[in-house]
Amino acid sequence: MSRALEAGELVLLTDRKGRRYLIKLEEGREFHTHAGSVGHNALIGGAEGVQVRTSRNAELTVWRPTLSDYVLKMPRGAQVVYPKDSAAIVMQADVFPGARVLESGVGSGALSLSLLRAGAEVLGYEIREDFAQQAVENVRGFLGAEEAGRYRVEVRDCYQGIEAEGLDRVVLDLPEPWQAVLHAGASLRPGGILVAYTPSIVQAARLREACEAGAWAQTSTVEILHRGWHIKGDAVRPEHRMVGHTGFVTTARRLAD
Ligand code: SAH
Repeated sequence: MSRALEAGELVLLTDRKGRRYLIKLEEGREFHTHAGSVGHNALIGGAEGVQVRTSRNAELTVWRPTLSDYVLKMPRGAQVVYPKDSAAIVMQADVFPGARVLESGVGSGALSLSLLRAGAEVLGYEIREDFAQQAVENVRGFLGAEEAGRYRVEVRDCYQGIEAEGLDRVVLDLPEPWQAVLHAGASLRPGGILVAYTPSIVQAARLREACEAGAWAQTSTVEILHRGWHIKGDAVRPEHRMVGHTGFVTTARRLAD
């Protein structure tokens, strides 16, 4: 069902050149770009997908932002997990509604948003207080305070231990995830899944060694290659540029004792 855009909502404005602007609608305000301005009132009460003209006759289209639109625009302290990888992590970790997930570190909360969107109850461990706060703000900014009720972040060092039992999933984005493997094993229920994201394959290899030394099985490491295609008439080919590397996704499942 379509619902009119309201003041207080976040919207994404896109132009013909592919530029994207994330703004919060406020009664009486103006949005300015070098391509002219548009009043928020021209958007409030309207639908998504509406095209408006700026004062300099440029065309802008208004949308509610998708999760990936938001993540790429939200304030970031730490490097975020990119949407292509977050999507894979959610699937590899088999996150389900109500799943009890420990996530560390939470950084800017990009991955947290995907875990929460999949319905998980997320407990975050983040060593930096400023990042912990930013993550909570970012999550509230997209999901709203009510849904963010499934999200709690504690300022803690994950290498020192995980104070939880019977977790369904542990999701790590830490420089040295192998330092958390024993703790993850102690906190996960049998059959629980550990997923770790690491920019370097050396980190992934060290993590795999740590898993081999413990009660883990079904281990795998993958990278997600995401290549866009240019499709225009008969010119149909891969895009010339792509993001060649982000990180590796390593998965393991906890055996019974
Ligand atoms: N996945 C996050 C980005 C995480 S960046 C996102 O998508 O937004 C890695 C984070 O791990 C940083 O915020 C860093 O402060 C935190 N960190 C590093 N070592 C840690 C530790 N031992 N315990 C908890 N958090 C840690």
